Amino acid sequence: MPKILVVGGGYAGFYTAWKLEKHLRQGEAEVVMVDPLPYMTYQPFLPEVAAGSIEPRHAVVSHRRHLKKTRVVTAKVTKVDHAAKTATITPSEGEPWEETYDQIVMTAGAVSRTFPIPGVADEAIGLKTIEEAAAIRDKILVNFHKAANLPAGPERDRLLTVVVVGGGFAGIEVFAELRSFVSDLLKSYPQLSFDDTHFHLVEAMGRIMPEVSLETSHWVLENLASRGATVHLETQLASAEGGVCQLKAKDESIQTIPSDLIIWTAGVMANPMVKGTDFPLEQRGRIRVQPDLRVVDDNGVVADAWACGDVAAVPDLTGGGVGGFCVPNAQHAVRQAKQLAKNLVAVIRGEATTDYKHENLGAVAGLGLGIGVFQSGKFAMKGFLAWGAHRGYHGLAMPSWERKWRVIGDWVGGFFLGRDIASLDDRETPRAAFEAFASRPKPAVEAPAPAAAAAPAPEEGKPADAAGPAYATPAEDVSKEAEPVKAEASAEAK
Ligand SMILES: Cc1cc2nc3c(=O)[nH]c(=O)nc-3n(C[C@H](O)[C@H](O)[C@H](O)COP(=O)(O)OP(=O)(O)OC[C@H]3O[C@@H](n4cnc5c(N)ncnc54)[C@H](O)[C@@H]3O)c2cc1C
Repeated sequence: MPKILVVGGGYAGFYTAWKLEKHLRQGEAEVVMVDPLPYMTYQPFLPEVAAGSIEPRHAVVSHRRHLKKTRVVTAKVTKVDHAAKTATITPSEGEPWEETYDQIVMTAGAVSRTFPIPGVADEAIGLKTIEEAAAIRDKILVNFHKAANLPAGPERDRLLTVVVVGGGFAGIEVFAELRSFVSDLLKSYPQLSFDDTHFHLVEAMGRIMPEVSLETSHWVLENLASRGATVHLETQLASAEGGVCQLKAKDESIQTIPSDLIIWTAGVMANPMVKGTDFPLEQRGRIRVQPDLRVVDDNGVVADAWACGDVAAVPDLTGGGVGGFCVPNAQHAVRQAKQLAKNLVAVIRGEATTDYKHENLGAVAGLGLGIGVFQSGKFAMKGFLAWGAHRGYHGLAMPSWERKWRVIGDWVGGFFLGRDIASLDDRETPRAAFEAFASRPKPAVEAPAPAAAAAPAPEEGKPADAAGPAYATPAEDVSKEAEPVKAEASAEAK
């Protein structure tokens, strides 16, 4: 039975495996999918997760629950030697191993692309993973608790200042959703007022959201301004050292904004893991494919290799796209994956493949509760209706009814009960509460040899330490370093 190895289980990988399960006949091929994460992340929901409208776990789709016929491997692919049809799989525990295959599908996606701006790598957080979205939500909640105990001043301002870098779709969505979240939160914090909260978005270009018309983007700017959120156009982040953002405008003026939450959404790049493969890459580091999603090099098709999603440069046959290639988005990733699965099955059966071609459906964005924009060609919707379209589209696009119901349940719950504003930030240190009161072994007593010799022999049937338990009370808490000493001492006693 031929083995199909799918590298990555995000949008493109998950859908490829899911559709292969559907199209393949019993015993026709074995599918193995490898991803370091045990779930696919529905990234368009990350802004709503950060804003507390969707529970983090509900915005991901468990691989093992939904891929019943696929062998799911939770580990990283660290190298592909396609000439030898071997991939190196590296788990988080245990030794790496080599997995051979007959067909490979590369769908390792994209990662946040940053520039070497001082402080960004240490201070900022991205928005590509569910963990980042959940951490942003918790950071805002924890900062509100802290700020509520502080007098007005620079430290309180820093805690209540959000800076987003990048005015693309993801940046504007998270910026607007967080503004809505924070405005809601103020109802529960009488110590804080609207004017205490500060929102800044930095965009190097002269406009935001290139996916919508200029007119629609102006509407978004005005809407954000009316909600107390400032967008700095033609401005670059010059430094974020120590959490102090230095914004450099086109006229070279510098504005300094200290912030405890700097979110970086200024672009993505193909997953650099592809550099550990022998596949042909184009200048932006993506795998070269032809329209039927088979990998190509200068000599033509690379046999038995496929790629799609953000990691691949897929020609856009509609004439749209950037540089003639499909833009990296979920709309393409899902449809490419479905076409890829069909084409792969066709090749296994010796049939012809079909080229991928998808006319852009438009773009829809949620900008906080009750506010959204939708653009398809020249047609635009703004405000409540567009927000309804955003929820309707994404609610239905979430894979599987099991997941759709969870997300819709969050929305219905939020409508009747409001956002859940409990933060579980302490889960970062889950053992702290237990450790604070946990009994530890007493530190070893350095018993002088003669005294030990003079000690009475233990009564028969009783252990040598029966005189008292060898445990410290919490008050006598001792450090872990004491343990090796005790071990030595008891060894000596023996
Ligand atoms: C905040 C945000 C909002 C967005 N909103 C929209 C939207 O509204 N509409 C839209 O169309 N698009 C949207 N997108 C873009 C869309 O989510 C991506 O284009 C889409 O996820 C690409 O799918 P993919 O499968 O190529 O990559 P991903 O979905 O990123 O999947 C890549 C997978 O590869 C795995 N992987 C990484 N390294 C390895 C390795 N070494 N070995 C094995 N596996 C590996 C990853 O763990 C991941 O699961 C948004 C993106 C973001 C970040």
